[in-house]
Amino acid sequence: MFTRNHELEQSDRLWGAVDAEMRETQRYTGRCKLKEDVKQALRKVDRSSFVPHSYKSMAWQNHPLSIGCEQTISQPFIVALMTDLLDVKTGQRVLEIGTGSGYQTAILAQLAGQVYTVERIATLAQRAKDVLTGLSLSNIQFKVADGYDGWSEYAPFDAIVVTAAPDDVPQSLVDQLIDGGRIVMPVGSLLGGQSLIRGVKEKGELIVKDVLPVSFVPMVGGVECF
Ligand code: SAH
Repeated sequence: MFTRNHELEQSDRLWGAVDAEMRETQRYTGRCKLKEDVKQALRKVDRSSFVPHSYKSMAWQNHPLSIGCEQTISQPFIVALMTDLLDVKTGQRVLEIGTGSGYQTAILAQLAGQVYTVERIATLAQRAKDVLTGLSLSNIQFKVADGYDGWSEYAPFDAIVVTAAPDDVPQSLVDQLIDGGRIVMPVGSLLGGQSLIRGVKEKGELIVKDVLPVSFVPMVGGVECF
């Protein structure tokens, strides 16, 4: 919630820029505007709570920012688009791979019944958990683990979002998606080019569509304790 006028102004400006980028990219994404529930979820979460102190003044810009451990909080437009493409409905179960700052987690928690989030870097996972617990979001479960394995204990999921880029969609994640479930993630390498994809599982098979060229940190196997 915002109490100060200038924060409201900055937030209006940011979400206005995101709306404009939605319109400009509709030819690729197939979506000219964000769904109303997604817009509301975005408006409810204060991005400045998820960035390091030194970047707070930049939190309302439509840019990715460093969060330490060589990782980034994603660009607001990309978070908004990925959330919209997931088509999460009330009560659904969402798996997120790459908790990072916890910003996208907070937005998903506004829309879903339960969010299960996996991060391989323990420091980031703990920081995100502290921020999200402070915001009294109680429908999130955290795990420090290699997201290539998904989270089989809580599968199947209605939707899966991955915020780091592997070379291909991991089969373990497809296996943990319900029929009719959606997966939204970057695929490819920084040098060879990455594409944001949206997959829908139909009769056990993932039907994949390319959405947009993107630039995400690589998905890395194993767990790290910085
Ligand atoms: N949505 C996050 C994005 C963070 S960047 C945000 O906006 O803050 C991507 C995150 O994916 C990083 O924190 C990185 O450590 C994590 N990641 C990379 N490979 C992973 C893996 N195999 N399993 C789990 N997390 C992984």
